[in-house]
Amino acid sequence: MTQRPPFPAWLATQSDAARPPAPAHVLARPQGLGMDSAAHRQHLLQLLQKQGVRDAMVLQAMGSMERHRFVDSALVNQAYEDTSLPIGLGQTISKPGVVARMIELLRNGAAGKLGRVLEIGTGCGYQAAVLSLLAQEVYSIERLRGLHDKARENLRHFRLPNVHLLFGDGMAGYAQGAPYAAIIAAAGGEAVPQAWVDQLAVGGRLVAPVVTSGAQGGAQALLVLDKTPAGVRQSLLETVHFVPLKSGVA
Ligand code: SAH
Repeated sequence: MTQRPPFPAWLATQSDAARPPAPAHVLARPQGLGMDSAAHRQHLLQLLQKQGVRDAMVLQAMGSMERHRFVDSALVNQAYEDTSLPIGLGQTISKPGVVARMIELLRNGAAGKLGRVLEIGTGCGYQAAVLSLLAQEVYSIERLRGLHDKARENLRHFRLPNVHLLFGDGMAGYAQGAPYAAIIAAAGGEAVPQAWVDQLAVGGRLVAPVVTSGAQGGAQALLVLDKTPAGVRQSLLETVHFVPLKSGVA
């Protein structure tokens, strides 16, 4: 009997480099199975660079985190495309391009890792995992129990001791971990909750999508907020499309 590679071939747990090349019948499959995931990420990196991402630490983190482990098996073939994908309960995993862009803004050219970071909207846990490579500690909060559990499941494989998953309403932030060097939101509300600004360290930066017109479901733009000793400084950047920031838990 001929030996078959695991299915899909590039999802095997051993290092992609160590595995023998997939046989031709696997490579020929239209879904792209048989290509190793490192090659997919390399391609994604080129795309991110084309989009203008320059921060070497961000590129390195995006190039090493296995996004395919955060999506359902039916979507694995799209895991390294620059697209958001459904993760259940009406929510989505963010586009890698947006994750990279927001974390680059968050780091603001810092030489080393960020200190404590708060993420609002864990979803499937992908961005929290990327952040874990770029921050001392990551506190990530999710209001949907089903996704909080899913993120815990997804992250187990990576054994990231500096990621702390929290179940709750992120509108209130997470005071126990404050002050934060950086706060990042993956869901867009009409305004940035005061709790987030309060929990941001002086010298810290917050990056969040905010609704700019038409209330919930309207246009959103990226907001960058710096908390300086002289007060808060804000700028609105490009248009983005995030799921809505909602209050309460479910
Ligand atoms: N960070 C994810 C993106 C998840 S989508 C990634 O890596 O791709 C945004 C998430 O924000 C959704 O799961 C949604 O349930 C959650 N969310 C919305 N409002 C929230 C709130 N007030 N507190 C916590 N999570 C919230």
